Amino acid sequence: MNYNTETINRAARQLAAMFTSALNEQHATGQGTTTIAQIETGMREALRQIGVQALGLFLSSMQTTPTSEIACPCGGVLKYQRMRSASVISVFGKVTYERAYYAGCSCKEGRAPLDEQFGLEPGAVTAGLAALLALAGIEFSYDESPKWLQAYLLFDVSENTVRSETEQMGALQEKQEEALIQCSQDEVQLQERQRDPGQVATRLYGSIDAAKVRIEPRPKQGEEKGEHEDWRDMKVLCWYEVEGVPPSQRSTRQREKVAREQPALRAKNLSYFCDITEADDFGNLLWATGCDAKADLSPELVFLGDGAIWIWNLVAKYYSHAIQIVDWYHAEEHLEGVASAVFPAGSPRSNWLEGVKQSLWDGQVEEVISACDALASSCELARKAVHYFYTNAERMRYDRFRAAGYMIGSGTVESGCKQIVSHRLKLPGAQWSVPGAVKTAKARATWLSGHWQTLCDQRSALPLAI
Ligand SMILES: [Zn+2]
Repeated sequence: MNYNTETINRAARQLAAMFTSALNEQHATGQGTTTIAQIETGMREALRQIGVQALGLFLSSMQTTPTSEIACPCGGVLKYQRMRSASVISVFGKVTYERAYYAGCSCKEGRAPLDEQFGLEPGAVTAGLAALLALAGIEFSYDESPKWLQAYLLFDVSENTVRSETEQMGALQEKQEEALIQCSQDEVQLQERQRDPGQVATRLYGSIDAAKVRIEPRPKQGEEKGEHEDWRDMKVLCWYEVEGVPPSQRSTRQREKVAREQPALRAKNLSYFCDITEADDFGNLLWATGCDAKADLSPELVFLGDGAIWIWNLVAKYYSHAIQIVDWYHAEEHLEGVASAVFPAGSPRSNWLEGVKQSLWDGQVEEVISACDALASSCELARKAVHYFYTNAERMRYDRFRAAGYMIGSGTVESGCKQIVSHRLKLPGAQWSVPGAVKTAKARATWLSGHWQTLCDQRSALPLAI
């Protein structure tokens, strides 16, 4: 919205005068020092109160002269009753306004067309405030959020309101994903898409990982204890593209990589998706979001993961053409585990490790397997490593992957896992039910993917959509 500078100037002069007189009055009664922080907060509070009044006046002013009758959605007729006041909680706090109210239909429903026009639900929060509450809810624990919000908004919001608005955003994302799943299972739509695919990434990456979430629902009323504690996997999926990092922007780690003949790459256009669900169901999400990202149409699709078998099964099922790569750092970790278990710290350990890491780097997985196999009779970890490298051998041809310029670390999705699961779901005091954890995580994943505004727009249309 653009405002006329002169109007703003006039309102500012009024506000300044109002504030000066309030301050003089305070000083006259011998009260208070006035630091700039107090002045700022005082002015914000004044602006907030003005916002409350102004929004109420504005909404009331939008009420046109009521007609005596309007149509009822049921097909009947509603009669004008009277002007009736209603309140909503806005970004300024509780706002009250007057609007025409209609009732008297045989269906017993009442209507206030102004509420519908602006998507207002009396007693509930406005879409503008809902977006801010949910933003706090995806960042802070629900019991901490009200404190943060009080500092920013200057009025109190309950923990439950923050929770329900955040979960509402997650529910909207869930709906979007369900719609994508439906689309992705519709043969006709898929074929149409194939004929006219639009822009397709020439090299697209996908990555899947999982992290544990502690499920311990709050006890219901009358219950002494909730359901027993349980750990569930939050599966996280990321679609992204990769670009080279210009030399001037490279981190120390990236410069080291370049020194090892590995291109300095970074992910861009990341989209995160997550759920607590079985691998089969997660496969539907993988396929649906992949269709949306045009993964099936991308001439080069690269999948990165740790060695977990369920991940590769899903990739093989839905994207048989994908290049599969085991995350370099996971592979390296296996070798470090074996080295620490077998050799004492010092040069025997580092010599062995350097040798096998070089073989792995060069894609000589068979040499790595032999090196581990030689230690297998005395070491359980070495036996497991043989199995791990044998099973994943073709996913570890790092020489070829490097030559093709592929990213070989799955840090992108792991960082997503950390940001979604560790940084929010594992905050102290967090008690989750499965649906609560899933909705909060989905809302957070949407924020991290940069698609938050889409949810806000949907939330804005919500009371009308129901
Ligand atoms: Zn009716």
